[in-house]
Amino acid sequence: MIDFKALAKKYGTPLYVYDLHYMSAQYKELKEAFKGRKSIIAYAIKANSNLSIVRHFAKMGSGADCVSIGEVRRALLAGIPAYKIIFSGVGKNDEEIREAIEKDILYINVESEAELQRVAAIAEELGKSSRISIRVNPNIDPQTHPYISTGLHDNKFGVDIPTAKRMYIQAKNSEYLDPVGIHFHIGSQLTQLQPIREAAEIVADLIRSLQAIDIELKFFDVGGGLGIKYDNEETIKPYDYAQAILGTLTALDLTILCEPGRFLTANAGYFVTKVLYEKQNGEKKFVVVDGAMNDLLRPSLYNAYHKIEAITDNNGEPREVDIVGPVCESGDFFAKNYPLPTLNRNDLLVVHSAGAYGFGMGSNYNTRGRSAEICIEGSEARLIRRRESFEDLICLEQEFLVE
Ligand SMILES: *Cc1c(COP(=O)(O)O)cnc(C)c1O
Repeated sequence: MIDFKALAKKYGTPLYVYDLHYMSAQYKELKEAFKGRKSIIAYAIKANSNLSIVRHFAKMGSGADCVSIGEVRRALLAGIPAYKIIFSGVGKNDEEIREAIEKDILYINVESEAELQRVAAIAEELGKSSRISIRVNPNIDPQTHPYISTGLHDNKFGVDIPTAKRMYIQAKNSEYLDPVGIHFHIGSQLTQLQPIREAAEIVADLIRSLQAIDIELKFFDVGGGLGIKYDNEETIKPYDYAQAILGTLTALDLTILCEPGRFLTANAGYFVTKVLYEKQNGEKKFVVVDGAMNDLLRPSLYNAYHKIEAITDNNGEPREVDIVGPVCESGDFFAKNYPLPTLNRNDLLVVHSAGAYGFGMGSNYNTRGRSAEICIEGSEARLIRRRESFEDLICLEQEFLVE
């Protein structure tokens, strides 16, 4: 049991709390599922990019999946070796590509023909060869939320199979490109195995047809997306996930690369916020808390469900309330029609599953400083990002202020 009251008292609210032991257990379970094969778990650091969290995974031997050069720098700074870092994303600019090649990361995940040309041209300027992987869009419906679905031709990600094949041939013929991997990532919060299996089969077939023309890849990058329980969803067991993927690779000797984000961190994290007021407009009851959409955007952005626990001495009958923050938007809520007992000022609400796509999607909207972040390891708690002050928020503008 985490003593949220004591943590809120010591560090203030709103507050992010991350349980490192939980993250370790998730990492180990997934790593174990792929045993018997060479595998790299490349933590998708956009899920939770706090340096101390990334370092925690670095110490466990994790690699990093990055979607900007900023994330590549973060991964390196946190101690992830370059040879375990990959760089994905549909819109890498020249400077990002250059730095990735100079830093000699494991490979760049290329997402279009035009990008392949840029990578080749920049590698040539640098007089180096760049390791690449191509992101294939297998046109599979992952059966998840449309905003986090990425593996359909309607989505902006990756290239179709014929294009991928053409690109591999171009890469093989280029002195400056070294095609080492193949990548797919069909979406996030996947709770069904069948789409993953189908996508892996399509991509494995492409690997075989490339072998036939003498293009030998080393890495089979299956993306991330493993779903977690926010409520009572049925989720995929890591063992079954690994078996489904490995089952498509008969007679192929490839290192598995897997890019989980949410699976590793979401349920290790809690967002703790304090009750300010209760109010009622007509029949509608609201609980106003000190956290807001600028701290945790998922309910506003995706209408995402998060379990919310009240820490209060009241134990009356729950009523249905909307839990809302102070930001001036009707979309600023954590839950609607959520059953909670009557609350007093300064009671705490703990929003669960907040360890992924929580803090990182935060903003300073309404000139609100971002929350503090702490991690816990057993009974030890440690600050890993201090609360932002007003001075932090204005420092990049102040020097430009004219009389
Ligand atoms: C976002 C993303 C991930 C991680 O997704 P999760 O759902 O958090 O596991 C992995 N790979 C790529 C390319 C991504 O864009």
